[in-house]
Amino acid sequence: MRVGWIGLGAMGAPMARNVAAAGFDLVAYDLADAARAAAGVPVADSAADAAADVDVLITMLPKGEHVITALTESGALAATAPTALVIDASTIAVDDAQRAAELVQAVGRRFIDAPVSGGVTGAQNGTLTFMTGGAAGDLETAQPLLNAMGSRTFHVGPIGAGQAAKLLNNLMLAVNMAGTCEAAVLAGKLGVDPETLIDIARVSTGDSWTLRNYYPVADVVSTAPSNSDFRNGFAASLMRKDLGLALDAAERAGVQLPAVAQVAGGLDRIIEAGDGALDFSAMVRLLDEPATV
Ligand code: NAD
Repeated sequence: MRVGWIGLGAMGAPMARNVAAAGFDLVAYDLADAARAAAGVPVADSAADAAADVDVLITMLPKGEHVITALTESGALAATAPTALVIDASTIAVDDAQRAAELVQAVGRRFIDAPVSGGVTGAQNGTLTFMTGGAAGDLETAQPLLNAMGSRTFHVGPIGAGQAAKLLNNLMLAVNMAGTCEAAVLAGKLGVDPETLIDIARVSTGDSWTLRNYYPVADVVSTAPSNSDFRNGFAASLMRKDLGLALDAAERAGVQLPAVAQVAGGLDRIIEAGDGALDFSAMVRLLDEPATV
């Protein structure tokens, strides 16, 4: 199986490395020279070259507009084998996934949306969770590749359903992080040792992934971006994008998301301060007093 890959960022590069390490014949492309140089997989000089005659083309890009541009304007989609499968693992709007699928199907290719959860660590370790939308037969084609990058795959429904599940997951993640940041700061004030807090919560009712993996105070949890001044995580700007997807979907559905709206406002402040590239746990800095351990 020949595999083309577009997007070698924080997630895309380690995911592509896992696909190559599993023995697939992979060629990748990213717009950024630095991303291509650091990818650790065979790279091409253009998206169309990376996609030439491939059976499967995987995209891992920031937003829907990038996915559509990378497929169409770059000539990548047209360069694939005639019945190729396009797997978009980016987190994009449900509508954009459906639009991308229409463009792909219009030229006889196949499409599934397959956004992921698990963060950069999950991408590096090959333990991502995939939430997929599309035809069962197309998911079957994709499964050996998804297995190289992740440990779980959910088939949620038709095209776009994977993205719907992903925006629900991320809105819970964002709100959990806001609560974790508030607890972490208050724990510092109340003199509660953060490791004790985590030990208690993990066997009690306050447990969360953010608490155990992305504690927003340095030197508590080894995998947390707070240890590296909030670098090397899930960019606040990307989380803000995901909350925008959730807020748009909710507005169309006539549902209020007040907690999400509040967290989105906090992320806007981080982005306006020029820190949108920092991990979203940097929202701890919005709290009045710095956290102490
Ligand atoms: P990133 O910003 O680190 O990487 C994106 C890459 O895409 C960049 O290297 C950029 O140069 C490249 N790019 C943009 N447009 C391009 C184009 N037209 N052609 C070729 N390359 C192009 O982003 P990331 O953290 O890798 O995230 C990618 C997607 O995965 C996003 O949709 C994000 O929401 C989602 N996601 C991220 C995480 C995380 O923890 N970082 C977790 C789950 C899902």
